[in-house]
Amino acid sequence: MSGNGSKGKVLVIGGGISGITAAIEASEAGCEVVLVEQNPYLGGRVAQMHQYFPKLCPPTCGLEMNLRRLRASSRIQVLTLSTVERIAGSPGRYQATIRCNPRRVTRKCTACGACVAACPAERPDEFNCGMSSTKAIYMPFEMAYPLQYVIDEGTCRGTACGKCVPACPYQAIDLEMKPKTIEIEAQAVIWATGWAPYDAAKIEGLGFGACRNVITNLMLERLASPGGPTAGKIQRPSDGKEIQSVAFVQCAGSRDENYLKHCSGVCCMASLKQSRYVRDQYPNAEIYIFYIDVRSPGRLEDFYAQVQKDAKVHLIKGKVAKVHEDGADGAVVVEAEDALSGRRVAQKVDLVVLATGVAPNSGSVRLELGGALQHDEHGFVNGDQPLAGLLAAGCAKRPADVASCVRDATGAALKALQCCVEGSRG
Ligand SMILES: Cc1cc2nc3c(=O)[nH]c(=O)nc-3n(C[C@H](O)[C@H](O)[C@H](O)COP(=O)(O)OP(=O)(O)OC[C@H]3O[C@@H](n4cnc5c(N)ncnc54)[C@H](O)[C@@H]3O)c2cc1C
Repeated sequence: MSGNGSKGKVLVIGGGISGITAAIEASEAGCEVVLVEQNPYLGGRVAQMHQYFPKLCPPTCGLEMNLRRLRASSRIQVLTLSTVERIAGSPGRYQATIRCNPRRVTRKCTACGACVAACPAERPDEFNCGMSSTKAIYMPFEMAYPLQYVIDEGTCRGTACGKCVPACPYQAIDLEMKPKTIEIEAQAVIWATGWAPYDAAKIEGLGFGACRNVITNLMLERLASPGGPTAGKIQRPSDGKEIQSVAFVQCAGSRDENYLKHCSGVCCMASLKQSRYVRDQYPNAEIYIFYIDVRSPGRLEDFYAQVQKDAKVHLIKGKVAKVHEDGADGAVVVEAEDALSGRRVAQKVDLVVLATGVAPNSGSVRLELGGALQHDEHGFVNGDQPLAGLLAAGCAKRPADVASCVRDATGAALKALQCCVEGSRG
């Protein structure tokens, strides 16, 4: 036990639902925690979702409950816009070098937004998958934590422009803010770096980039979300037309020797959920889900059974061979062979959603520990590392839904606590 009564220090890399959970659980068990997140906000990919399966509640509810616990803890230091550059030392005494990039907006910010009107520069909004833009000074999303504006260094002209500075009634903008590097010592390090969406442009034949009305599942989350680029209206990107028919292409880049060999685990459930988004907005829309086999483990099977009862949802067992545009009106044709009937299918639809997979993302931390971080054959971080106290949680380890990530992160926090306690004994 250290002088201030804490049981030791845990470094958590990644502030998605797994990292937030690990941080809260470790802190509530008595550890000090440094939670490092590269984005200007916490929440990770979950923050981009419109609703959670299976309950179809907005993710901000679940996140808000966790953020309340996080805010209540005096033992958690949150560093947004930050990355871990290097980890050295040895088990029980890991030394981490953390780079903290400047937000250029201080805590005096009240999120009033007066700066936005004054800012002349624009950037693509990566939170909305590039389907809209923000000013160089922006709020990442409406429920962001911290609820504080941020300046995009790559877009802002800094003091050469400076128009936002006098526009802020609270003197919260500091264009001279510099990056900082800090060093910490920790007994355990948890990789909660999550996942990256597989790049749909790499998948041959499925029309992403070539057809105007082919989007990815993450893009559909943003289109359906009230905070998204269309204020929640699902519409065709080419002309904003309402949707009469949608095709979901499962395993787009997953379970494929050419792309990701692994099953991405959550895409079947994501498409079943997204079929609800479409049906809620368009009661007469026809939905076609092309699948290899539907994976809805455990209690999630009930959700699948509910969707199957919908006469407007057509489940077609067949790997999609080709997606192409049909004529000038932007309609898209999905070609596949129905494995159950042996028939060739060419289904014309208004919109195609590629259920793109979950690619591994372990970050680029330099380890100076006499060995590298161990990964499995698909690139996910191994749960069992040779060095005690190096741990992983959530999608950094394998594709998983939120409930599984929360359980996994709680387990990682417990192991981290054990390392702290053992470290303090010896
Ligand atoms: C289309 C789609 C829909 C989905 N819908 C649902 C659903 O409805 N219900 C459900 O249960 N699950 C759903 N999922 C799964 C869900 O997204 C994951 O379970 C969840 O995102 C896992 O959280 P995580 O914290 O492990 O990873 P992430 O959400 O990826 O968070 C990781 C965090 O780490 C940060 N990070 C990464 N590298 C670094 C670094 N080097 N330094 C600092 N920070 C770093 C990232 O910026 C990010 O904030 C869906 C998945 C997809 C693809």
